[in-house]
Formats: sequence, structure tokens, C-alpha cells
Amino acid sequence: MLIVPERDIADLMTRAAAFDAVEKVFAAMAAQEAYNFPVVREAIGHEDALYGFKGGFDRAGLTLGLKAGGYWPNNLEKRGLINHQSTVFLFDPDTGKPAAMVGGNLLTALRTAAASSVSIKHLARADARVIGMIGAGHQATFQLRAALEQRKFDKVIGWNFHPAMLPNIEKVATEAGVPFEPVALEGMQEADVIISITSAFAPSLMADHVSPGTHIACMGTDTKGKQEVEAALLARATVFTDEVAQSVSIGEAQHAVAQGLIAETDVQQLGAVINGTHPGRTSLNEITLFDGTGVGLQDLAVAAAVVDLAVEKGIAIEVDF
Ligand code: NAD
Repeated sequence: MLIVPERDIADLMTRAAAFDAVEKVFAAMAAQEAYNFPVVREAIGHEDALYGFKGGFDRAGLTLGLKAGGYWPNNLEKRGLINHQSTVFLFDPDTGKPAAMVGGNLLTALRTAAASSVSIKHLARADARVIGMIGAGHQATFQLRAALEQRKFDKVIGWNFHPAMLPNIEKVATEAGVPFEPVALEGMQEADVIISITSAFAPSLMADHVSPGTHIACMGTDTKGKQEVEAALLARATVFTDEVAQSVSIGEAQHAVAQGLIAETDVQQLGAVINGTHPGRTSLNEITLFDGTGVGLQDLAVAAAVVDLAVEKGIAIEVDF
């Protein structure tokens, strides 16, 4: 069995490798060559922690396994550790023997950023120039850094519920040499691409804050009850997702479906666009919306990629098991 510890991930994993892994696995999911197992998520009654498992099997990539982990809200204050903790376990699909144990914390941020980037590549207008960020927390920095590689953006605009956090994303824009401007939510009308990545339970972005032709990646809503954008916006948009079952139950589409504004059948898999079985954006004025809920197969795909890189560089730790 190979071990790739968390401390080695930053030096090994690249945004490009994460992008390729996620794009491939979305395509495999749409081709029904890969599927996610039902998610387990439990409040364990200790340290206020939420713990669970996300797993799946990708027959195309021969990746089998799970990500185990969750959220420990007291970690930072009590122990100086980050609150999100996860580890990926990969198994040999031919034998069931454990194949690898991989630190999953940084990988989670990279695979989530890769998902919105894949959606931008396949759904945003080719001439997109202004990117709008809603959210300025931990994930937002990864999201922006990856998205800036997908189009020739010449301006970043940003809004955050807590304005004091905006310098987090301004720093990323500045490092990429792109000017940053804080805006009111109405100012998002200037954006060609919008990424929302917040932990909100009520919508910030309303349908009339979005101009025709915009691509929106909603990345924060991954739990029942969370919501980042007005449900009416989904009714105006062509809606895509990583996995339809998650989108309509724990993703951004849960609200529009519950209100009868769209049906489950209106939500398409992004993988179908990658595979060429769905046309994706069909006009310059169309609003496209990607509901990125986060699936276990994304974690397995990036973990398998990082194991390959660790083996290539001779730094994977091998143990008899
Ligand atoms: P964070 O705590 O670092 O940042 C939270 C962000 O949400 C900040 O920008 C904050 O200002 C904003 N926010 C908080 N309350 C708000 C409110 N009431 N209205 C509007 N905005 C509000 O968190 P993070 O690590 O950046 O994660 C952000 C979200 O992304 C979380 O909901 C997390 O569960 C989700 N997430 C999704 C995936 C996925 O695959 N889709 C993966 C990882 C994380």
C-alpha cells in the first residue's frame, strides 16, 4: 500500500492535473462508467463534529475507494488544526486490497476549484472578460486562482457578506496580474462568469443581478437548506451539475425543484457536454448555471492522480499491509 501524506500534496499536485482528473471523471459519470455510492454524513455527538464517507467506483479509470472525513468546528481554536479534515482511501478494484492512503484536505479544495473551472471551460462564452466572485473564504481563493486560467479575464469583481474578507480574493487577482474591484450585488451584472462559494442559507445573488449570456458556477451549496442564488435564476438558466441526484436534493437546484420552478429532468450532467452528447451553451444570450455539489469520485480521481505523481517522483511511502 502507498501513502501520500498531506504535507506532500502541495508540492505534488498541480491545478492542471486536478482539472484533467475531474474533467475525465465527470465524463465517465455521464457515460455511466463511473458512479458514486450513497453519501454517509453523521453528527457524531463528539466535539460537535460532522463525519462521513463519500465513495464510488470509476470503471473507466479503475478507481475504487472513499473519502472519509468531515468538519471539526473546534479544531482551530483548541488545537491549531484546520476544521475540515479528510483522508482518501483507494482500493485495488481487482482484489479489494488497499492501494493507497492520501491526505485529502488540500485535494478537496483543488478538486472543488477544478469542477467550476471545467464548467467554465465548457459553458462560459469564449469572449468572457469579467469574472465575479461571491464569497471570499478559504475555498474562494482556490476557485478564483483556477478560474483565471480558463479565459482571458481582464477584471475581477467581488462581493462578500463579510466585506473584511475581500482582500483574500483581491490578493489572488493581484498575484495573477488582474485588477480587482469590490462591487454591490447589482454590480454583478457586469460579470460574464460568476462563481458563488459561500456557506449561506439564504440567496445573495438574485435573478436580476445576472446579465444574459453569463455563466454561473454555484459551488457553496452542498447540504440541504443551504442556498446562494435566487431559485428564479435557475428557471432563467440552462442548469448543469456534477450529479443530478445530489443537485436536486442537497445542491442549489433543491430550491427551484421544491418550488416547482424547474423539474429534475431540466438538470443536465456537465459530463454530457464534455462527452459531446449535450450541446451545452447554444446561444450567446443563454445563461448557463453549474450546480457543483461535490462528489466522491472527484476526490478519488485527484487522489489517484497524486499517487501517480508521488510514484513518479519516488516519494510515495510504501508499506506492507
Ligand atoms: P469559509 O468559512 O472559509 O468561507 C465562508 C464564506 O461564506 C465567506 O465568504 C463568508 O463571508 C460567506 N458567508 C457566510 N455567511 C454568509 C451569509 N449568510 N450570506 C452570504 N455569505 C455568507 O468556507 P469555505 O471553506 O470557503 O467553504 C465555502 C462553502 O463551500 C461551504 O458551504 C462549504 O461547505 C462549501 N464547499 C463545497 C464543496 C463542493 O464540492 N461543492 C467543496 C468544499 C466546500
